[in-house]
Amino acid sequence: MRIATLKERTPGERRVAMTPETAAKFIKLGAVVAVEQGAGEAAAIPDSAFEQAGVVLGERPGIMTGADIVLAVRAPDTALLEGSAPGALVAALFEPFADPARVAAYADAGLEALAMELMPRITRAQSMDVLSSQSNLAGYKAVIAAANLYGRAFPMMMTAAGTVSPARVFVMGVGVAGLQAIATARRLGAQVSATDVRSATREQIMSLGAKPIFVEAVAGIEGEGSGGYATEMSEDYQRAQAELVSSHIAKQDIVITTALIPGRAAPRLVSDAQIATMRPGSVIFDLAVAAGGNVEGSVADELVDRHGVTIMGYANTPGHLAADASALYARNLFNFLNAFWDKDAGRPVLDEEIGNAVRLTRGGKVVNERLRA
Ligand code: NAD
Repeated sequence: MRIATLKERTPGERRVAMTPETAAKFIKLGAVVAVEQGAGEAAAIPDSAFEQAGVVLGERPGIMTGADIVLAVRAPDTALLEGSAPGALVAALFEPFADPARVAAYADAGLEALAMELMPRITRAQSMDVLSSQSNLAGYKAVIAAANLYGRAFPMMMTAAGTVSPARVFVMGVGVAGLQAIATARRLGAQVSATDVRSATREQIMSLGAKPIFVEAVAGIEGEGSGGYATEMSEDYQRAQAELVSSHIAKQDIVITTALIPGRAAPRLVSDAQIATMRPGSVIFDLAVAAGGNVEGSVADELVDRHGVTIMGYANTPGHLAADASALYARNLFNFLNAFWDKDAGRPVLDEEIGNAVRLTRGGKVVNERLRA
């Protein structure tokens, strides 16, 4: 069993899907691990660390020759996979709904594409859940980046020259990223409030020492919501939410938005008129910017000034913490393949529940129910 990992080709992608730690674990399972030279450099992993772990290092065409499994952050162009074994497994982020042409190309190439972002949110798959591992780091980074740009301090400071008041941070969307954003802002000493459409998040917000701000007049989503996910809200709800945000946001210094709806554009939560009511010098970090944005005017990887408020957001937030993001992502991949490793066959054999959820293509066809519907 040969497992290969390439250097990422997507501009700005600093992560890598294999680390020396996971390579050593795969080698212990009996696999040969081949990594393209320089693949870990942007994530602070030198080739020598891979070498010490027993990895075969080389140039692209060579390391791909005979690969049975390819691990990547972003699904590589199929041309880069030439030389891999027929029907090779490729586990990566595919963005299958946004990029159907790539899925079709994998089917045409006879590859078995495994989309890591489709990992079911079930207890036994938690250690394989790349969305969680990456969102957690993204929630942290959003707060740090906003704090860095903010021209005031986060904690209250009593000094001989007078008191510095604490920053007020408002987190919109309390999934994995939002919870980590709340925890990070609290650790920095800010006064934190947060909102979501799912009522189960109210207790989670309070347990982190933050204040829940919820629409009361119109019912939101009860409990966790289906699979823990939100859906698009009714017009009545959206109107009530806009009123609530308008009355709250003017008093906030930092706003972190994280709201996503699976398979849809991100909901718009903050309007230009609302931004105009904020204090100059405030900072808004739009974590959903790559999915269409929660904030009017946000542009990926640019600092936008509106009414003296800075709006920011990265196209790839986990990529700004490439070393940790790679370590967790690579472990997710190892946990996934290891859970299904068939010792006799010397290869992973996926079960139906998880296999059918993540598998996009096999035997020259697109096989995923969610793509065929
Ligand atoms: P997500 O990235 O899809 O969305 C982020 C948050 O935005 C969600 O909390 C969502 O409710 C919220 N949101 C959507 N529309 C909104 C709106 N209009 N206004 C305000 N907020 C809005 O979510 P996620 O981080 O992937 O987490 C989703 C759920 O999955 C959570 O309940 C989480 O606990 C759960 N989860 C379960 C597992 C597991 O059991 N394996 C693993 C990870 C996450």
